[in-house]
Amino acid sequence: MDLHGIGVGRGVATGPILRMPDPLPEPEQTGFSGDAADEKNRVAEALTAVAAEYQARGAKAGGAARDVLEAAALMAQDPTLVDDVNARIDSGTNGERAVFEAFAGFQQMLIGLGGLMAERATDLGDVSQRVIAHLRGVAAPGVPVSDEPFILVAPDLAPADTALLDLEKVLGLITRDGGPTSHTAILARSKSIPAIVGVTGALDLVDHTVVILDAAAGTVYISPSEDEIAEAKKRIADRAAAAKAPITDGALADGTLVPLLANLGSPKDAAAAIELGAEGVGLFRTEFLFLEATTAPTVEEQRTQYTELLRHFSGRKVVVRALDAGADKPLSFLNDAHEENPALGLRGLRALRASEQILRDQLTALAQADAETDADLWVMAPMVSDTEETEYFVSLGKELGLKTVGVMAEVPSLAVLADQVLQVADFASIGTNDLTQYTLAADRMLGSVAHFQDPWHPAVLRLIKLIGDAGAANGKPVGICGEAAADPQLAVILVGLGATTLSMTPAAFADVRAELAKYTLDQARELAAKALQAHTAADARKVGSTL
Ligand code: PEP
Ligand code: MG
Repeated sequence: MDLHGIGVGRGVATGPILRMPDPLPEPEQTGFSGDAADEKNRVAEALTAVAAEYQARGAKAGGAARDVLEAAALMAQDPTLVDDVNARIDSGTNGERAVFEAFAGFQQMLIGLGGLMAERATDLGDVSQRVIAHLRGVAAPGVPVSDEPFILVAPDLAPADTALLDLEKVLGLITRDGGPTSHTAILARSKSIPAIVGVTGALDLVDHTVVILDAAAGTVYISPSEDEIAEAKKRIADRAAAAKAPITDGALADGTLVPLLANLGSPKDAAAAIELGAEGVGLFRTEFLFLEATTAPTVEEQRTQYTELLRHFSGRKVVVRALDAGADKPLSFLNDAHEENPALGLRGLRALRASEQILRDQLTALAQADAETDADLWVMAPMVSDTEETEYFVSLGKELGLKTVGVMAEVPSLAVLADQVLQVADFASIGTNDLTQYTLAADRMLGSVAHFQDPWHPAVLRLIKLIGDAGAANGKPVGICGEAAADPQLAVILVGLGATTLSMTPAAFADVRAELAKYTLDQARELAAKALQAHTAADARKVGSTL
């Protein structure tokens, strides 16, 4: 029986699996010999050692992995957690048990918060295990070591595991837990490791069983035939060849240009994106710069960051999104009220409007950075619902000195009103992640409804068509910046629906570039028309696979 989950990217891998070793047994609920001060010292030393280990691994790994590992190092020294551990030791609990209980309590709290916070709970569990292993004087649990290449199977991967994966040995990743935004997914994407997350039954796989991991199909094929393995190996070789193909501008077979733009969360990622062929930036997620901030960033602080970003892209387009706070990305200085359904709450532009000075400061910082550099700066608002909100944001942006001001299309109401909206906005950029979530009423963080979270769904495609048509009628550009743009076959269809640029994680450029080059604009439109008539996402995908 094959196994299914959420594929990350388009990669294919084949080989034997190895399972991650089971976690350490739970520490006993006993006391300790010696006095409490010694026990606390023992724990303090272990926490310091583990934090240092994370720092060292982070420095070695670099990139996205470094940030994740540095965050784990901070968790190991979090004063609230340390106080909690010490209080438990004071009341007679041994150090290992005190660490176990304090971290577990914190984990539960994060899970209760939901969204991105809940996904960090795995990281906390990893810190706890490493500290306990240190106290016991045993090896920390982690990625198995093997002389032969293998596909790693695990409940979920913690940052310390993913950061230092030996890419020579680990062919792919299969995890039981984790959504599309879990660390396994983020790091697999940034390192181009084929991965499938949220695979029920993954842990029943027996070590050394040969599988084919097909991320595009979200399927793990167990004990495949020789022919199937040969076919998978051919696909792996084809992808490797496509990745090495010369970097050209994104274009269709008839020469129609479709600029391939990068989704970025920090100016630090710009150089790597340019190396992979980024023709500009289609989505700069400014909120990622301030996730840890407790007070609103100043104009000066922001101007520095935006200037650094724009300097990388002289003469190129850079689309910056105003702070998208709320739901999976709460910012404490913009979202303070408890909401039952934060995805439907005061988020995105709604939250900015409720704290207008923060929005004004951001737009001012952007206008200043624009004046200092010669990139082509476009600014857009997240989670815009209608024409009135569009008018508000566009007129405020222009008042504060911005030249090109647009909206993200993520809420279905905006797509329905696209003909009005695109008379006012200079451009629209479609966020397919949220547009799919809201169209299908399926929480994008929730594994149990992941099958509804499918941008191939004809309802989503029809909304995209409304926006594409409105863009064409008003002579306004319509970009795509959700994950859908990174799916090569869907990318062709999105262009057929009227998208004029595609923005994605730079790791996806090569695959998308190769696929676009196979079709003319007429063919893309023909395929899009067929996909619009599909009854299900699966049927629309079949249209894609006739490509
Ligand atoms: C989207 O919703 O598709 C999008 C690009 O924004 P984010 O993923 O940051 O919500
Ligand atoms: Mg969004």
